[in-house]
Amino acid sequence: CGIIGFTGGREAQSILLDGLSSLEYRGYDSAGISYFGADGKIHIRKTIGKVKDLRAICDDENSATCGIGHTRWATHGGVTTTNAHPHRVGRVSLIHNGIIENYHELVKEYHLESDLKSDTDTEVAAALLNHFYEEDPKEAIRKTVALVKGTYGFCIMFQDFPNTIFSIRSVSPLVATHCEAGSFIASDLTAFIEFSKEYFIVPEGHILTLTKDAIEVETLEGVSVNPEYMTVDWDV
Ligand code: GLU
Repeated sequence: CGIIGFTGGREAQSILLDGLSSLEYRGYDSAGISYFGADGKIHIRKTIGKVKDLRAICDDENSATCGIGHTRWATHGGVTTTNAHPHRVGRVSLIHNGIIENYHELVKEYHLESDLKSDTDTEVAAALLNHFYEEDPKEAIRKTVALVKGTYGFCIMFQDFPNTIFSIRSVSPLVATHCEAGSFIASDLTAFIEFSKEYFIVPEGHILTLTKDAIEVETLEGVSVNPEYMTVDWDV
């Protein structure tokens, strides 16, 4: 339902939680974040309920500068903490907006049963990414999206690529910006408008790599693309 990702020179947790609060108007049933902790590992906090319930289970102090956050509107799998996003399988952490239609088939074909803890369509994408992930995140993304049928906006963190967010979308909306604070991605620009009035619409079927210094946009064939920045023309 709602997506926010940030990597930059500031503390990520409050940016993620405030970003999720600004997306609350869309309605949702659960919320969660994952981030690269001081130990270099990916940590997840998630819960059913509201962003305030998520805040309550987050640490007061969190020095992480990269993370992804999600508010879920359950489509596949009940409203439970396990079904909330982010999902993690192996070295991959993922949030997803949309619906993966062929998830049953993918589980069978790639023998993913033992990787799954939730009842969601989303976790199957995380399992598939982990299945294909050797050392190249983009290769894993290319192989995964070649198989997935449905709609998606994915934000993905790979354990071996600290402070980096990968993203790709089909149909589900995503916008992004690189600004003085760092790099942002979101399902709706209200989530980061406080930091930037410049943004671009994430082109469908392109792989984004967000780091603190830049956002790289490339086609599935690996051709770099310059995103077309626009300026928000309403006052906030
Ligand atoms: N289909 C996914 C789920 O039910 C994502 C729903 C959403 O877009 O929030 O977990």
